[in-house]
Amino acid sequence: MIPVKAKRGFYIATSCPACGAELELESDFLTTSCSSCCSVLRILTPATPPVYVVKAKLLDKDVRFHIDRHLKGNAEPLTHSLDSVRKFYFPYWKIDAILLRLRHRKETRINYNEETNTETATDLKKVETMLSPYDVTIAAGGLPEIIPYSLGERPEYVKTMPYSEEHLQLGFELLSIETPWQDAITKANRAVEQLNHISAEESGVNISLLLRPVLSLINFPYFLAEANVRGKTRSFVLDGLTGRIVYSCSDGISEQLQIADQQQSAELGRLGVELHRCRNCGEQLPDTRSYVYICRNCQQLTVLEDCPELNRRILSVQGSANVDEQYFPFWMFRLPAEQMNVFRIRFGGSENAGAICVPAFRIKNFEALYRLTRRISCAMSKLPMFESRELKENYLPVAVGIAEAGALAHVALMREVVGKTEELPRTLADLPFEEVSLFYAPFHPESYFLVDSCLGAVTFEKTLAGV
Ligand SMILES: [Zn+2]
Ligand SMILES: [Zn+2]
Repeated sequence: MIPVKAKRGFYIATSCPACGAELELESDFLTTSCSSCCSVLRILTPATPPVYVVKAKLLDKDVRFHIDRHLKGNAEPLTHSLDSVRKFYFPYWKIDAILLRLRHRKETRINYNEETNTETATDLKKVETMLSPYDVTIAAGGLPEIIPYSLGERPEYVKTMPYSEEHLQLGFELLSIETPWQDAITKANRAVEQLNHISAEESGVNISLLLRPVLSLINFPYFLAEANVRGKTRSFVLDGLTGRIVYSCSDGISEQLQIADQQQSAELGRLGVELHRCRNCGEQLPDTRSYVYICRNCQQLTVLEDCPELNRRILSVQGSANVDEQYFPFWMFRLPAEQMNVFRIRFGGSENAGAICVPAFRIKNFEALYRLTRRISCAMSKLPMFESRELKENYLPVAVGIAEAGALAHVALMREVVGKTEELPRTLADLPFEEVSLFYAPFHPESYFLVDSCLGAVTFEKTLAGV
């Protein structure tokens, strides 16, 4: 029997808008179905960071037990009495991002010439791009020392609930947010920059950057207990889930808690869950875990992500009516031409200076994604396109959203510039896009590869797309 892996980390608990049953949402979601009523639902992420509350599991009656166990473990005298207990939620920023590490290294290769019996050294330039998920929590409230700076990697499966007054437990106070979310991103970026301290064999450009940071606020429960130990007052701070003592001292610290006015959390965002239907005609949309849908009834476009630069006309490349054909989605990002000229970037060939086309399906290996991005960007201007009014069965879901694909377009751009110039202007990471659009290109299998059915020029390995 395969052992069931214990779930860990944070998940969001909310209720089904159709039947009220509880839904468990993990980090990678767009659409989901309710296990009680089978309704297909979609999640609406607000523009400002959404706020969550973690309910305490620790009971008042067990507080003294946890303190005594802690004292006993340290071979200290036990409590004589428990004088007061305050319960509060301490705010943390949760940051989910993509960590980009770009490493430029020079390698020296020694070539031996047998005829002349001499060795010559050649310098080889190599660029390595590494992308990895980055997920941290940073204290948003004050009280350094007393309260842990981060929630760390919790070994348990922690349930978070969208913030609302009824989700706050009786007798709990809400502490105020002292670090604005913009500062939290700055702090996280500063921590990441420490990664640039490079080892000796590496030289040239080294950059570590957080891309597409997504923030949420988690109010986490703590207990502050004052106890009488041998006639003296001692303070203990307990983790509200496990009862673990996270801080203790021989002073009263209760007056240091900064109570928030309710307004603070209410001003932040709220996660929404709604029925996955066409907003125009109400037709049920398919549960394909895609960012993009076209209603089969009224042809209205639904995109599960806000983007003011989005061109809502969806294009398809003319296929060849090959039965094995599948249409792969790509996001096209148009950059300001004058900027591209400043950096002398000809992304994907001389015909196409300003557009970067990033796969909207998942490719885990960045170098492979970069190669395909270059090829398709280069071929783009030669591909005949028509407007798509339906997404047929051989159209793959759009698994990578605009924000993530935009970050990848920036990475591809930086990768291109570093590869050519060995320098990297940091402003490249924030270059604004003038237009974003989606197009589909048909590919068919040929042995180990997928080949584009229009030009026969763009290929990639089957395994990359999981086909
Ligand atoms: Zn339901
Ligand atoms: Zn419709």
